[in-house]
Amino acid sequence: MYRTHTCGELRKEHSGKIITLAGWVQGVRDLGNLIFIDLRDRYGITQLFFDKSSPLAESAKQLGREYVIQVTGTIRERSSKNAQLETGDIEMLVGQLTVLNESKTPPFTIEDETDGGDDLRMKYRYLDLRRGINNKNLLHRHRVAQAVREYMDGQGFADVETPFLIKSTPEGARDFVVPSRLNQGQFYALPQSPQTFKQLLMVAGFDKYYQITRCFRDEDLRADRQPEFTQIDCEMAFVEQEDVLQMFEGMVKHVFKKVRGIELEDFPRMSYADCLKYYGNDKPDLRFGMKLIDVKEVVSGKNFKVFDDAEAVIAIVAEGCCDYTRKQTDELTEWVKRPQIGAGGLVFIKCGVDGSYKSSVDKFYSADDLKKIAEHCKAKAGDLILILSGVLIKTRKAAGELRLEMGARLGLRKVEDYKPLWVLDFPLLEWDEEDKRFNAMHHPFTSWKKEDNELINTNPGAVRANAYDVVINGVELSSGSIRIHNRAQQEKMFSLLGLTDEEAQYKFGFILNAFEYGAPPHGGIAFGFDRFCSIVISNLDYIRDFIAFPKNNSGRDMMLDAPSDIDARLKKELGL
Ligand code: ASP
Repeated sequence: MYRTHTCGELRKEHSGKIITLAGWVQGVRDLGNLIFIDLRDRYGITQLFFDKSSPLAESAKQLGREYVIQVTGTIRERSSKNAQLETGDIEMLVGQLTVLNESKTPPFTIEDETDGGDDLRMKYRYLDLRRGINNKNLLHRHRVAQAVREYMDGQGFADVETPFLIKSTPEGARDFVVPSRLNQGQFYALPQSPQTFKQLLMVAGFDKYYQITRCFRDEDLRADRQPEFTQIDCEMAFVEQEDVLQMFEGMVKHVFKKVRGIELEDFPRMSYADCLKYYGNDKPDLRFGMKLIDVKEVVSGKNFKVFDDAEAVIAIVAEGCCDYTRKQTDELTEWVKRPQIGAGGLVFIKCGVDGSYKSSVDKFYSADDLKKIAEHCKAKAGDLILILSGVLIKTRKAAGELRLEMGARLGLRKVEDYKPLWVLDFPLLEWDEEDKRFNAMHHPFTSWKKEDNELINTNPGAVRANAYDVVINGVELSSGSIRIHNRAQQEKMFSLLGLTDEEAQYKFGFILNAFEYGAPPHGGIAFGFDRFCSIVISNLDYIRDFIAFPKNNSGRDMMLDAPSDIDARLKKELGL
């Protein structure tokens, strides 16, 4: 037996017991008369003790970092306890020491605060994963998955696997493709999601399906994106939107309760249109107010051309910020002018605690005018009003970004707060200016609101979809929709997207055909699982920390050095 216990479980009660541990040498502290070793495994760290008189003292001194050792000894209470460590009350007086394997000096320190850069740690990911912080994240991920499975199973969902080698499923991204050896010149695509398969499972009568599965999208990468990522993919038959919302609000609540002990309140619901109007984007962070305020009417007609000529003039109120210095306001102005935000400038109104009003455009606005604007914005004495203007869509977006930035600067985006909501009533289509045609906003299998049936022929851009997102703290956690389940409607959708009948049949014949064999009404949703873990555990949107072997920002696996060239013979066999 390699060990009787783990390095994380020994406490005062074990004093006097003879115990065997196995693990990695985190560090050796040689104090001359005494030698201490921190022994680490997945469960924690236990202090090993050798005194100079011990016959093992010499061997202990020879141990290098990350050596794998086995030790047997007596547990005793420490004279100086370490409250930071769960095993900090005890140590092992070592009687036997076996080196199970040696280790080269690791290229970076295996501690929560490490000296290793990103690429180096990715190259030695197996060492990086030894660090407690990473180790814990993956174990948390496991716990989230367990909580999801528990809920889904309890609700009668069946876990069904779907294939990875498929024909392209359009979800708006580029496909990864796999050349076929047996069908030369032809390619499989890796699924961007199991969308069409889960719909076919509904046609097959499965009724409630889910899967925690990998999806592949060949997109440009960002910190919160990976070319392969995991979804909790779900579908239900004989449901309306309300049924899906209830079911999956329940799932999110269950996971938070189970994993973090947090009871989430019922999710508020907001239309896509209101999200844009009040928050400037379709994933509002509701941890704080500071809503966008349309001030076009109150600011117009004062000969300030910038506002008079603008399609939109939008304000936010930063509470208690009226004493911002010139330096601070200049810096904010520079911030909104950055290309990522793209505003032309920023106007300030300071609502003094003494009841005075001052602005950066005093030339055009009297104190009385400013007071009116402040009243319209419900700004109080001591507040600072920030105003942006320009084209509506761009200005909303910029104001939304500024709101988030001010929220962060004022400490309003608290890590302990969770504010989920449902975003509803998305548009069905979005206009692609470059290609001069519509794209599906969610995906082409999403149905539209019955009330908008007329519009589909007259003004398709205004049609609302039966689509919904869960958003938490400004992060989109999931997307879903009630699907089209009849052939004529699906064909109509494809034609709106600019596909000819032949193209639709060639690409999607399988699902169009299936719709002719008794397809039930159905709908579903998919959660970004990596992101879900990151939000539940750390309240950050940084998925790489929750993936065992992630790719870097250029889509490379630094450890495997992939992608890479392949064997010439294999290439030939594949006809490449
Ligand atoms: N397949 C969709 C996606 O990946 C989710 C869904 O509609 O269920 O976003």
